[in-house]
Amino acid sequence: MRALVTGGAGFIGSHLIDRLIGRGDQVVIIDNLSSGNVSFIQHHLDSGKATLIHGDVTVFDDVMGAMAGIDCVFHLAANPDIRLGTRITDTDLKQGTLATYNIVEAMRRNDVPKIAFASSSVVYGEDAPLPTPETHGPCLPISLYGASKQAGEGLISSWVGTFGLQAYIFRFANIIGTRGTHGVIFDFIHKLKNDPSRLEVLGNGMQEKSYMEVGDCVEGILHVMSSADAPLNLYNLGSHDTASVRRIAEIVVETTGCHGAKIEYTGGDRGWAGDIPRAMLGIEKMLSTGFDVRYNSEEAIRHTALALIEEIGLDRR
Ligand code: NAD
Repeated sequence: MRALVTGGAGFIGSHLIDRLIGRGDQVVIIDNLSSGNVSFIQHHLDSGKATLIHGDVTVFDDVMGAMAGIDCVFHLAANPDIRLGTRITDTDLKQGTLATYNIVEAMRRNDVPKIAFASSSVVYGEDAPLPTPETHGPCLPISLYGASKQAGEGLISSWVGTFGLQAYIFRFANIIGTRGTHGVIFDFIHKLKNDPSRLEVLGNGMQEKSYMEVGDCVEGILHVMSSADAPLNLYNLGSHDTASVRRIAEIVVETTGCHGAKIEYTGGDRGWAGDIPRAMLGIEKMLSTGFDVRYNSEEAIRHTALALIEEIGLDRR
């Protein structure tokens, strides 16, 4: 199969590419390297099994130029920083909604039949029952990022209904693991690297979410795609439990060895405007395909903390 991975130089995309190439696919990557890192995929570029187009998914001609001969698109490129949307309010509109329009329209014009889309638990908003099943609605996201993910889902579903595209929409939990370049564990390790005596935690630390290890996430994507074959397939991808931000702070302090660090909470029930304090995806549908995760939330957090301490270059005390 010839796959196009948008955002393939990023955290999740580069792990996905490892698996795609491992199973024998040819991979084309389009990435503007805004948050991605070529070193994550360099070995595949060197082997000739992957090609990188340094392009922007918000530019229609760049997307058209990447589509020739593609069998399936994995659309992962997006602004990864939910907070950025509050400062520059058209960020997610352009990087999410318009980019996804460019992808599906370029697919239509090039007869590319299949897409997998990286959506998010944030589409459910903050009043959803926990764990939240795929059948929950109405979905009322509270961040501009969440709105762009929901808009992307709507565009994809309309291309399925109107032009016969086949689609897999994955609503991810918090994905963590090696090569992570953002998120709470990454932030905490950086803060402790700068000042091992204190760790500032945004909010009251009671925020509680489920965490999924990135290897589990990409295995889940490929497993679901090989076992479900409806025109439109919607799946939550997450783990069985949750962890609080307070617990993450404790684990990071412990794994970094910064035992003297004072954990300080800025207060309030959420880290930033648009953050959802409590989230847990229902994963019954994912489990029904025969796929299960290897790591629970706390195991994934510990594994990630150890890996990122190495990658960030913090000397363990
Ligand atoms: P990431 O920032 O590591 O990857 C995004 C990649 O897209 C980067 O390589 C970046 O350079 C590229 N990119 C961004 N804008 C682009 C543009 N305009 N044109 C071309 N390339 C562009 O983030 P990630 O965590 O790997 O996220 C991948 C996808 O999964 C995103 O769509 C994200 O919204 C979604 N997602 C991630 C999580 C998570 O916890 N990491 C949770 C839910 C959904």
